[in-house]
Parts: sequence; C-alpha cells; structure tokens
Amino acid sequence: MIDIEKVRKETPGCKNRIHFNNAGSSFSPQAVIDAVKNHLNLEQEMGGYEAANKEFIKIEKFYLNTAELIGCKSNEVAFVENATRAWDMIFYSLPFKRGDKIVTDVAEYASNYIAMLQLSKKLGLEIEVIPDDKDGQVDLDKLKKSMDGKVKLVALTHIPTNNGLINPAKKVGEIAKEANAYYLLDACQSLGQVNVKVDDIGCDFLCGTGRKYLRGPRGTGLLYVRGSLIEKIEPVFLDLHAATWTSMHGFKIRNDARRFENWECHVAGKLGLATAIGYCNQLGIENIEKRVQELAKSLRQSLAKIPSITVLDKGCEKSGLVTFTAPFNIENLQKELELSGINTSVSYLEYARLDFEPKNLKMVLRASVHYYNTLDEIEKLCSKVSEILRR
Ligand SMILES: *Cc1c(COP(=O)(O)O)cnc(C)c1O
Repeated sequence: MIDIEKVRKETPGCKNRIHFNNAGSSFSPQAVIDAVKNHLNLEQEMGGYEAANKEFIKIEKFYLNTAELIGCKSNEVAFVENATRAWDMIFYSLPFKRGDKIVTDVAEYASNYIAMLQLSKKLGLEIEVIPDDKDGQVDLDKLKKSMDGKVKLVALTHIPTNNGLINPAKKVGEIAKEANAYYLLDACQSLGQVNVKVDDIGCDFLCGTGRKYLRGPRGTGLLYVRGSLIEKIEPVFLDLHAATWTSMHGFKIRNDARRFENWECHVAGKLGLATAIGYCNQLGIENIEKRVQELAKSLRQSLAKIPSITVLDKGCEKSGLVTFTAPFNIENLQKELELSGINTSVSYLEYARLDFEPKNLKMVLRASVHYYNTLDEIEKLCSKVSEILRR
C-alpha cells in the first residue's frame, strides 16, 4: 500500500494543480528536484567534471536502480537523452538488408513509425502493421501468421500514448522468439506504471523515458540491451565514450550497453533519474500498478456517466491513460480545464495515424492518472468537464 498523503506531501506540484498529464510529464518528488538542483549548484561551485567525480557513486546508481526496476544486469543499461533516441540507437544499428520485414502494431509511437518509413524507403524493407483484434489489442494470431522467414524485427509499443490499452507484450515476446526475430519494446508509458521485467517479457531491447511514469526530469531516457546481443549490435554512432581510440587507425567498442551512450550528457538529469527510479523501486511497482489501475477504472466509470462523452479505451488490460471525445472543440476543452487548474492533454491524428485514421478520429482528450492522484481530483475533473459541456 502506498501512503498517498505522504507521497503527495513529497510532491510540491500537487499543491498547485490537479495533474492528469502524467503520460506527458509527471510531477517529480522533492528528492528528484533536490538531486537535480543540488548538482547544478555543485557544478557551479566546483566545476562540472569535478562535481561529476564527486558524485560518481550516486550517478552510477542510475544503472543499478534501472537494473532492479526491469530485472536485468546493470551492464545491460544505457543512459540516453530520451526514449526516441534510445529506440533509434537500436533500430538504426540493426543489420537490415533489402527485403527484410519489420512487424509492428497499431499502437506504435509516431516517431518510431517515421523511422521505419525512412529506413524502409532507403533500404527496401517491408513494414507489416498487425491490426488490433476485437478486444483492441495487437492480434496475436495475425502476428503469428505474419512471421515468415523474412521478419528481422518485431517492434511493439507496450502502452500507447494515445489510448488506454496495455498490449500483451509477453505473448508477443514468445512469438518473436519462436520466429528468431529481434524484439524491440517501447516501454515509455509502462516503466514506472506497470511491472515490466525484461526476462518475463522476453524483449531483446527496451526503451524508456524519464519524465513520464518514472517521475524523473525531462530530457532523460534509458535503453536496455540483452547481454548476449550487446557485442553483436554495432552502434550506428560511436564516440570516445562508446569506443576507445586504440591506435592511429584502430578503435575498440565497449562491451557493455554503454556503447549506445554519448560521452556528454545531462549529469544532473541522470542523477535525477537515478533518484526517481530509486523512489519508484522503494514504493514498489506492484503497489503503483494497483493504485493506477484503480484510479483509471474509476475515472473511466465517472466519465462514462457524463452525457455526450465517449470513452475510447479498448484492450483486455487497460492503463492509466484515459482517452475520450465529446461533441465539443477538444482543444478548447483542454484549455478551459487548464485555466481552472486541471491539466490534461490532446492527442492528435499526426501522433497516432495507424490508430486514429481508420477510426476517423482527429483528436482526443487524454487524462492520464498517476498514483499520487486522488478520487477527489477525479471528481473535480469530471464535474468541471460536465459543467463546460453543459454550457
Ligand atoms: C513519449 C513516448 C515516446 C517518446 O519518448 P521521448 O522521451 O519523448 O523520446 C515514445 N513512445 C511512447 C509510447 C511514448 O509515449
């Protein structure tokens, strides 16, 4: 059980606003804010390199805490500036050749899909998008059937940014493994929200971001690379951190996941993310998952009671991201809510074409809950929404 009063007290943002944009960027706990600010101060007191040396052990906690969160070894973890670049580092490094097939799903994140389109044009790759089944999750039978010998990569988004689905990532992992394809999981919305363990899911690679459900700083992200694959995947970019310049014409690439990192990074942000993941581990991801599920369920039920609101979320399992429409200008609805101190966000067609285009959706409103939200806040959101719609 999470002590909600305590976590709210430890979250200064909760005093100011009702925050239902956790899938965009959630409020950080005070410990994370302090870690970032203190390090920025330290850098200016003693020098950036000197500060990093002094805080070396705390910075290294990023790898240990991430390993604990996702159930891997710390040498399988890399710090990357965001989830998109983490995903790209794997995607653009994979040894694709003409005619290879990439299999993905309707929930795939826009940036990932744009990268697929780019590489498929350049290299002559085939992209197959597996449709949703009648429950609204990736159709596992169709996925199985798509697995001809040409599939090099299965790329799945675990929890999409634009609706309330949780995809069956573990079952997808079994199918990818059977077909001997690489499995790249976008866990951006799931890390810090649901229990994600890489060996249970069976993914080869996983990307995540700091600012969403992990409650870390913006501009931070992470990558997991399965140990047995690290030395088989040559990073598309190398620098003097990812590799060592061993002779005038020679270099040697590191043998841990940090071969996918940059030398220069936002050290204060890394410290902040380490702190945020430690905070999450301490609360217990199972407790977080349970609380988020309860709140999201309650929000969906309350919204469904408002006439003219359509809740859009499908899937056998649903996440903390609640999406809905109304016969009203959605952007204005979001703005009015924001003016009254309630944060939500709008998901646009351009963010989710595979999902929205067939459904004829131009935009939806998203209210994403985190464990520090309360039933009282949900009630306030719903009564404000109905008040605006009545006018
Ligand atoms: C937010 C998000 C991303 C991108 O994360 P960044 O850290 O902004 O690069 C990728 N995938 C999903 C599903 C997301 O929700």
